[in-house]
Amino acid sequence: MNLALYNSLSRKKQVFEPADPKRVTMYNCGPTVYSYAHIGNARAAVAADVLFRVLRSIYGADHVVYARNITDVDDKINIAANEQGVDISVITERFSKIYNDDLAALGCLMPNMQPKATAHMGEMVAMIQVLLAAGHAYEADGHVLFDVASYEDYGQLSGRALGDNLAGARVKVADYKRSPEDFVLWKPSKVGEPEWPAPFGNGRPGWHLECSAMIEKNLGTSIDIHCGGQDLKFPHHENEIAQSVCAHKGAPLANYWVHNGFLQMDSTKMSKSLGNVKLVHELLKTWDGEVLRFALLSGHYRSELDWTDDLLKQSKATLDGWYRVIGAGEGQIDPGFMAALLDDVNTPESFGHLSALAHKGDGLSLKACANLLGLLKNDPDDWFRGKGKEGGLSDVEIEALIKERAEVRAAKNWSRADEIRDIFKTENIILEDGKDGTTWRRG
Ligand SMILES: [Zn+2]
Repeated sequence: MNLALYNSLSRKKQVFEPADPKRVTMYNCGPTVYSYAHIGNARAAVAADVLFRVLRSIYGADHVVYARNITDVDDKINIAANEQGVDISVITERFSKIYNDDLAALGCLMPNMQPKATAHMGEMVAMIQVLLAAGHAYEADGHVLFDVASYEDYGQLSGRALGDNLAGARVKVADYKRSPEDFVLWKPSKVGEPEWPAPFGNGRPGWHLECSAMIEKNLGTSIDIHCGGQDLKFPHHENEIAQSVCAHKGAPLANYWVHNGFLQMDSTKMSKSLGNVKLVHELLKTWDGEVLRFALLSGHYRSELDWTDDLLKQSKATLDGWYRVIGAGEGQIDPGFMAALLDDVNTPESFGHLSALAHKGDGLSLKACANLLGLLKNDPDDWFRGKGKEGGLSDVEIEALIKERAEVRAAKNWSRADEIRDIFKTENIILEDGKDGTTWRRG
């Protein structure tokens, strides 16, 4: 089975050939843990999760090593800790757990490793020392900066030439920098902020350095696949490459770079200032995680995805249709479905094959294939009693109304009984009265 992947570095689709098929390595830039993840963050994690699953099915689950870091040193974390008067670990542990719980609800497998920046300070200091000794970094005003001019391939991933980023922009450049694009490897901490010891002065690392050091320590000098959102290509990934390549005598950081596209909200950019940021945590109160996962995978990972209520409703309806067909037992993976995934992880095309299986009534193959994508993991009965209707009644509310319905009927309060019947009708809740009481499901 040949997997073709679009490599952002070569800007073309290539056959994926791991350096060692017994240990395929992939890294994904993880969250900065100071707040809840939004659905755009989730898109990057779900895209990487599907790639992880496809690699595991090709090379074997024991032969793929996936690391997704936790950025637990950052200005935003310091601000949150100061505001709440707590140690940064209180913030980072809380939001690391929420992040993992949210992604588990979206059907993501846990990565093999979740390295934390705070556990890799020694490696970061050591990498800076290598860069200083090799003339790729310099100290200035308490900072250590990467000397971008010392790396002639800088900009290859994003296709930006030096100076591009300043054209037309009035950016105030710190006067200790030799060149405006030079970026921080290490900087002094402000009063009250956490700091770590280093021969070039106590302080803390720059964000880009964290990933380079964690990749080196946990996966090796060169890895097979580096993933992440399109928004991280520049400057984050560009700077990761510069640091790692220069610290490793020219060895590439990653052989394949896989970037997912942006997620739009109702055709506009999702941003805090526009007030249209959707948190995974909030969406999960209304929708089953599988509906969100399906919606995220309904577009190709490299395309822009427009997140709308209609998309969620359609996703729910398609899953409902599939859940009506799936059977219990072992099914075969459909070759057409697998071929779609091997073609640059084309999930929308793979969904077409799943719908065809559903149409044919092949519930076993449908389940086997959907499970490979992390879908159709629920028991169908549980599914139809679950969430999936925005603004609808919760399970608890439905149970309470059923209880009330029995009481008002016994008391011959027919007008209230009719009201409750109408609520269920509007909410599309189907009741079945049997000899053991009333059961319900969502229609
Ligand atoms: Zn990173």
